Amino acid sequence: MNKNDLVLVTGAGGFIGGHLVKRLREEGFEKIRAVDQKPISEWYQVFEKIDNQVLDLKGLDACRTATENVISVYNLAADMGGMGFIELNKGACMLSVLINTHLLLAARDANVKRFFFASSACVYNGEKQKDPNITALKEKDAYPALPEDGYGWEKLFSERMCRHFREDFGLAARIARYHNVYGPYGTYDGGREKAPAAICRKVIQAKLSEDKQIEIWGDGNQTRSFMYIDDCVEGTRMIMDSDFVEPINLGSSELVSINQLVDIVEEIAGIRLKRKYNLTAPKGVNGRNSDNTLIQSVLHWEPSTRLKDGLELAYRWIYDQMVSSRPALNAA
Ligand code: NAD
Repeated sequence: MNKNDLVLVTGAGGFIGGHLVKRLREEGFEKIRAVDQKPISEWYQVFEKIDNQVLDLKGLDACRTATENVISVYNLAADMGGMGFIELNKGACMLSVLINTHLLLAARDANVKRFFFASSACVYNGEKQKDPNITALKEKDAYPALPEDGYGWEKLFSERMCRHFREDFGLAARIARYHNVYGPYGTYDGGREKAPAAICRKVIQAKLSEDKQIEIWGDGNQTRSFMYIDDCVEGTRMIMDSDFVEPINLGSSELVSINQLVDIVEEIAGIRLKRKYNLTAPKGVNGRNSDNTLIQSVLHWEPSTRLKDGLELAYRWIYDQMVSSRPALNAA
């Protein structure tokens, strides 16, 4: 990609989009359009000399405005959150299909040269994720299709729409299946947060209060892998610039149980908490990990930040946020 070409990042007020805009600036991209539906005052990261726009990309007109004169698109806009959000908001998650459909149409009509779609490990067949000692998921394990209800179906459908826009209309789409991303400048409270941020927040709340307990969703034996944000952005850029057109895993292969995740955060915080298990809370599949054989062979690279190192950075950021908004925390 030419560094003078106009690049669009959607969902730029969110977690990954904000980090991607930062990265593109650092790489020397001179013309970046950052779009989100949230007011700019609510964006996690806002940068100068960027064309920041507030648009609801569910509408086709908004997508046409967003893609005007654009050469490449990173589509990171979605109505999403952690398991607590996606299990209880399946309709809202599926409405993101309007963003993806209209953005593809607008990109095609605006002669966009390359289009990145942020898919998810939630596209994988649930039958293959029943055991916490899971065999890591290969890209082919998305079919036969039995994805996460709501959010996963939308992602799988939009993946296929990207494929057919490439085949039928020549729009060069690239698709990454992100596995749980965490790090600073992301959601850590309010109901959309994912496990790493939620556990950091709960440990910090316990540390700052007299109540030395933590609630864990499920029995804590469910397993996952978690990718640090810098690896996510690095992989996104590499996949976008590559010639590889099929969906590809972008995730860490360091598998941990939720109990082990809590152990690590407790160690960072220097505290031990009494664990209360909420067996009725949404907990998702029993086990999920990323098989990185394909990304290693295509990019000769895979996410490698150790969970302990990345969590240290995420914990510090969340801690600073919570301490600087201490009155609200105490009032809760
Ligand atoms: P995020 O919620 O922090 O960011 C998404 C942004 O999209 C939000 O700022 C939101 O306001 C914006 N948005 C939602 N609807 C919009 C609309 N109609 N018009 C314009 N903007 C809209 O989420 P994130 O973690 O940064 O995720 C980015 C992308 O990566 C999403 O597509 C998500 O599904 C995907 N993904 C993320 C993870 C993860 O672990 N964070 C895992 C798999 C896939």
